[in-house]
Amino acid sequence: MQVSVENVVRTFGTTPALYGVSLDIKPGELVALLGPSGSGKTTLLRILAGLDFPTEGRVLFDGEDAAKLTVQERNVGLVFQNYALFRNMTVLDNIGFGLSVRPHARRPSRKEIKRRALELLDFVQLSGLEARYPSQLSGGQRQRVAFARALAIEPRVLLLDEPFGALDAKVRRDLRRWLREIHDKTGHTTVFVTHDQEEALELADRVVVMSQGKIEQIGTPDEVYDEPNSPFVFSFIGESSVLPVELKKGAVLLDGRKIGLSGEGLPDGPATLFFRPHDVAVGSDLQGGIEGIVSITRRNAGARRVELEIGPDGDRRVEIELPANYKLSISGRVVFLPKHYRIFPDTAAETATS
Ligand code: ATP
Repeated sequence: MQVSVENVVRTFGTTPALYGVSLDIKPGELVALLGPSGSGKTTLLRILAGLDFPTEGRVLFDGEDAAKLTVQERNVGLVFQNYALFRNMTVLDNIGFGLSVRPHARRPSRKEIKRRALELLDFVQLSGLEARYPSQLSGGQRQRVAFARALAIEPRVLLLDEPFGALDAKVRRDLRRWLREIHDKTGHTTVFVTHDQEEALELADRVVVMSQGKIEQIGTPDEVYDEPNSPFVFSFIGESSVLPVELKKGAVLLDGRKIGLSGEGLPDGPATLFFRPHDVAVGSDLQGGIEGIVSITRRNAGARRVELEIGPDGDRRVEIELPANYKLSISGRVVFLPKHYRIFPDTAAETATS
């Protein structure tokens, strides 16, 4: 199902939680709402679910105004972080719950509900656990039951709020892979909320990056990582190193000296250079290289992290990543240049890229 969010504003008292959010989700797409705490992710998800309503704007399900649909007509499957299984019901009854409370005319027979619940239990790879109670399951198993319960109603959209939030790192990774497989098999339009960028980048077809009630960028994982459109997205997704620079007629100046990067098309004035620590070239023969003095180095898995002091007073610090066997010493000099970078003028929204 196609879901469209049109200029949605949601205020709580005088506090706006969403400011004019617009978003189109294609049928069958797996979309992540990613952002820091308080950015409005859960508010948007709750509005999609029909648990909350926009102050302004609207949500369309396949072109139909969702405000006109009852919760049952919306038919969304919900999975929350805290499982929210019924403790006094078996796994089987939990999964069948959504079907068993349907109005009489649309309710399948008890036998049929049991058959579907068992089928779903098998689908989420928990066959044999139907008679258990939630307290007799691990966190990961409970979350899979919660998925099966959400899928049982054959939802038009699946909405997941930090579905793996309460689980440990290894179980999270396993369930991520599992969710992607389930999604590819069922083809449900799915929206999930996460503040974990790794989860969003690994799982989603498209990532919606949110900050302070607004959408900062919508793109594929590659787009938001490789072409972040704002300082916020660059800093929030992946690691970034940052240096203040000056732009003058397309040249980029650091401490008054021209460096080997281009600020073509950008207005003159103060700006900020962003790059990924691992995406740098090093060597004293680099044209217009940036010089730094090594202050700290540490081994980081297969590579070496190096903190450099920049400028005559060494008052700015950046981190770069070099091969683990790169020879350097504390207080030694390193010359580097980012291979890919973005420059954001401090006052305008324009950027230069490479
Ligand atoms: P988190 O990752 O911490 O769950 P979030 O991105 O999901 O954060 P929301 O829960 O959507 O953020 O909250 C967005 C803003 O709206 C926050 O400032 C929050 O305090 C406010 N807010 C959310 N729900 C309510 C409410 N019922 N009443 C008042 N303010 C609310």
